[in-house]
Amino acid sequence: MPRESTEAKTARIKKIIAGLKRTYPDAHCELNYSNPLELLIATILSAQCTDKRVNLVTAELFKKYRTAADFANASLEDLEQAIKSTGFFRNKAKSIKSCCQALVDRHSGEVPRTMELLTELGGVGRKTANVVLGNAFNVNTGIVVDTHVARLSQRLGLTKAEDAGKIEQELMTLVPQKEWTLFSHWLIWHGRRRCYARNPDCANCEILNLCPRIGVKLPVGTR
Ligand code: SF4
Repeated sequence: MPRESTEAKTARIKKIIAGLKRTYPDAHCELNYSNPLELLIATILSAQCTDKRVNLVTAELFKKYRTAADFANASLEDLEQAIKSTGFFRNKAKSIKSCCQALVDRHSGEVPRTMELLTELGGVGRKTANVVLGNAFNVNTGIVVDTHVARLSQRLGLTKAEDAGKIEQELMTLVPQKEWTLFSHWLIWHGRRRCYARNPDCANCEILNLCPRIGVKLPVGTR
């Protein structure tokens, strides 16, 4: 791809956003939750696991544990059993317990609304904090970079970075802040429905004319 000026990239990204907005007008977080605490727990569980599986697990989990104190006081074994099918359940159970203990000790059991306070909780990284802030509180503090966002950003020629933190910083300079939360939903939805990790469906892609298809070796129309 010939070198693209920042102006040209910004103009192209505007069109990409418009195309994805048209394609996925209802894009949203696909984890089920009814309050910030539930979203925080669901996001911790979603590491290396599908949202569908997490939703199956949390449908039961959230009936049994309703408050941060409930999770903090749960026995580690009970919690591990309840979340086992999401994988990495020992680490996840520890993270949930320590994070909920911190919520009880420092925030009266409430989920705080800033990146700084959220990432001070045990087991909560920047990505989890971005999910909670953007979706539970409508605060655009950053851009969630998961495997779909990383892959699509590279294919679309928006970044060459591999590291999630660097990708996020680059995207934040390109995407208008008011779109940060939705931008990751649009890329995640497109990654799940069209721009698959293997064999992306470029022939039917709604933003094909805006995509340099960096790293995609298949000719358009080959799947
Ligand atoms: S054209 Fe292909 S690589 Fe580019 S976004 Fe669409 S599906 Fe992905």
